[in-house]
Amino acid sequence: MHYPEPIAKLIESFMKLPGIGQKTAARLAFFCLDMEEEEVVKFANALISTKRDLQYCSICGNITETDPCSICADAQRDRSTVLVVENPRDIMAMEKIRDYHGLYHVLHGVLSPMEGTGPEDLNIPSLIKRLQSEDINEVIIATNATAEGEATAMYLSRLIKPAGIKVTRLAYGLAVGSDIEYADEMTLFRAIDGRREL
Ligand SMILES: [Zn+2]
Repeated sequence: MHYPEPIAKLIESFMKLPGIGQKTAARLAFFCLDMEEEEVVKFANALISTKRDLQYCSICGNITETDPCSICADAQRDRSTVLVVENPRDIMAMEKIRDYHGLYHVLHGVLSPMEGTGPEDLNIPSLIKRLQSEDINEVIIATNATAEGEATAMYLSRLIKPAGIKVTRLAYGLAVGSDIEYADEMTLFRAIDGRREL
């Protein structure tokens, strides 16, 4: 099918998004064509602003408009505990339940030999540096309950425990293979309160 070039380009762009195939991309592109111009401009600006105005916190790796992020900069938070997550969306999920008042660290992925992701590809060196320079007593590992998430938790536990720091893992009421990001609030609430030592 030959589309006019502007729409062909838009389809190509939509296809770069996860889970979007050619057919869905074409449907979305034609939907945009029918949108009010004002809405399209708002949409385009939101895309640009997401990239231009956000950065990763140099301490924890969270996405933020300011560096350090508002959580790292918050003097009220318990600075002796760090909760380690796979991605910034997990922080948003944890913050929603308001049961955790410590700090975070974002790995930006998990160890995956299949995909060639090793420790050096993740935000692990900066975590080790934090543990050496900050006064941290407990690291709560909150990677997802997948095979990679578990392997990453074990790897981190072996790395951190010799330093005399307590390492805990969320107690999962979560089904194996499930993502923190999509867990309901009650499940997360139980997971953090019932965490177990690794
Ligand atoms: Zn931060």
